[in-house]
Formats: sequence, structure tokens, C-alpha cells
Amino acid sequence: MFNQNLITFRQTLHQYPEKSGEEKETAQRIKEAVAKCQPTTLWTNIGGHGIVAIFDSGIAGKTVLFRADMDALPIEEANGFSYKSKNEGVSHKCGHDGHSTILLGLAQKLMKQPLKNGRTILLFQPAEETGQGAKAVLGAKEFANLKIDYAFALHNVPSFPKGQIVYRRGPFNPAVISLIIQFQGLKTHAAEQEKGINPAYAVAQLISKIQTLNNTDLSSPDFCNITIIYTRIGSKDYGTAAGDGELHYTIRCWTKAKLEATKKTILAMIVSVCETEKLAYVTQWLYYFAATANDDFAVTCIENAAKRLNFDHFKKRFPFKWGEDFGLFTEHIPGAMFGLGAGLETPALHQPDYDFPDDIIPNGIDMFYDIALQLNNRGKD
Ligand SMILES: [Zn+2]
Ligand SMILES: [Zn+2]
Repeated sequence: MFNQNLITFRQTLHQYPEKSGEEKETAQRIKEAVAKCQPTTLWTNIGGHGIVAIFDSGIAGKTVLFRADMDALPIEEANGFSYKSKNEGVSHKCGHDGHSTILLGLAQKLMKQPLKNGRTILLFQPAEETGQGAKAVLGAKEFANLKIDYAFALHNVPSFPKGQIVYRRGPFNPAVISLIIQFQGLKTHAAEQEKGINPAYAVAQLISKIQTLNNTDLSSPDFCNITIIYTRIGSKDYGTAAGDGELHYTIRCWTKAKLEATKKTILAMIVSVCETEKLAYVTQWLYYFAATANDDFAVTCIENAAKRLNFDHFKKRFPFKWGEDFGLFTEHIPGAMFGLGAGLETPALHQPDYDFPDDIIPNGIDMFYDIALQLNNRGKD
């Protein structure tokens, strides 16, 4: 019964997915289910459609946050099972339906087996995929007053055995940012290109120069992965030489410091090339995801929980390469994220045939509850 109600809940979230920032119905479903667990406090509309449930023991202790994301992706589902997405072009392809269900399971457990100390805060966070949600929640005034001691989150990880706890000290996810460079030259007749300013040469130079900043050594703290996403120069008007263009990148580094240094170097390259080419330009940095910098003590809690629960666990050598907006929490609050194995055969995240495996829900709940116990179960002093 305990698991069946959670599986039904997860599959209902899956059936009605909503994109980042639009999680209205999802939030309503979560709110109704969490309210039944009788939290001390229940807030809605935190940083958009976020839900915060506080379980307060009333006795001194730590304030510990557990965070789950709840948004889906603009991807058409390629599965045919009974609970497949009913919303065209939108589906849960990152397993955030599963993460939210795990957090609901934690709420049920906290109702049945309350902690002796402190406050346990469950945050159902919107808009993870766009990198907007963490920022909005951290900026919400109710949230700012919580004075959180530790923050934890998990992400399911396909291609790891089901239920395996995947963890590491130091960075867990990279800092990621995207860059748009727009060039404004001067259009001219194609027969008189010497009278115009064609951005093609600047684009060509910058592509070569920026490429040299890549460092593909995963073991290096200076790891830097710079990917060209899109480029355009001029238009298909054959009598006219190109006069404008754009170049789009995504940049990921293990640390914020390396990311900031890389941004500076790229900007210097742009300035120098555009000066030589007499080209005007505008740069725009967007979609920033802070690096998840795992706190050492928080990782020890994760490691202890996996051992105490006798769960298969794996200390990962290198961080994952995807961006995760939980990173922003770790910029402000000591905390850590761990991976929860989603199965060797499960399709990769963001693939149209991916689906969160329901049988790992209990592992997630047990991990969170054990971490909470370690921090808040010593009783009255
Ligand atoms: Zn995702
Ligand atoms: Zn995700």
C-alpha cells in the first residue's frame, strides 16, 4: 500500500507534465498530497509554483532542506504505456516526477516517524531545466528567513545499477553558462565587398581561438568544455555580402573560478578580433547553472546513509557533465547532491523513450530519511 500510492502518484505526475515555470497543476497535486502528511507549515507559490513543507519537531536542532524538482521538458513522449503523457510535446524526461514522488514519500515517513530535533524542510522546486527555479526560490522572502544549515538533493542516473548511490566529494556538476555573440558589420553589394564589413572573418577567427580553450581532461580542476551550439552569417540574398552574424556557445567548467576566468578570456578574444575587423558586437550570457560544490560533511552524511542502509554505493571519480540548478543552493548553503542509479538499460535523460523507474523510489526516501536522522535525532539535551 505504502509504495502503491506513491507509484500511482508518480504516474499521475507523469501523465500531466508541465514545462518549466508552468507547473501549476503539478504543484496543486503535490500540495494536496503533502497536506495529508500534516506538516507544521505548508507554503505555496514559492519562486513561482514552488511548494515548501516544514516539519518542525519544536525542539532545538538543525534545519535541513531536501529538494526535489518538478518540471518536465518540451519533448514528445515516445512511450506507449497506460500513463503516457497526455500533454502534447511535453513529457517527464528527466525523472522530476520521480524526484517529487520521493520527496512526498519522505513527507509520509516524517508523519509516521517524526524526528526528535530541528526542522526538516521539503522543497518542491519549479523550473529546474531552465536554471530559473533555484534562483527564484532562494530570492523568495519566506525562504530567505529559513536559515538552513544543510541542503540535500538527488538525481536519478541512468546507466548506473538500479538503486545504487553515486556520490563524490568536491564538484558534482559543472558550472554551465551559454553565450550569444551578435556581430554587426555593414552590408554591401556582393560585387563591392571592399566597401562593407563582413563578420565572417571574425566568426572564423573566434571559432578557432575559442576552440583552443577546451580542456577535455576530466581529472583536471581546470576542465573546460566549450561547445558551439549555433552560428549564422548574413542571409541567402546572393547579391548582398553578409553584414551581420551570430555565434552561440555553451561553456562548462568544474568550478565557478575556472568559468569566470574562461569568460574573461573569451571576452578579451572577442574585443581583440572585433577591433581588428572594425565590427560592432553585443554579448549576452544566459542559462547560468552554478556548479554543485558538494560540502565534505554533507557527503559524509550521504556515505554513512548508504552504508547504514546497506545500499550499493559507488564513489564517482569525476563530476557529471550536465548542469543542475541545485548548484546555486550549494553556493549559499553547505550541501550535497548524489546520484540514484536508474538502471543500466534505462534510456538516457532527455531521450524521448526515457521513463523514471518506480522501483527506486524507496531507495531515495530511505536515503533522505537516514540523512535527516543523522542530523536531527539526538532528542532533548
Ligand atoms: Zn534535465
Ligand atoms: Zn533533471
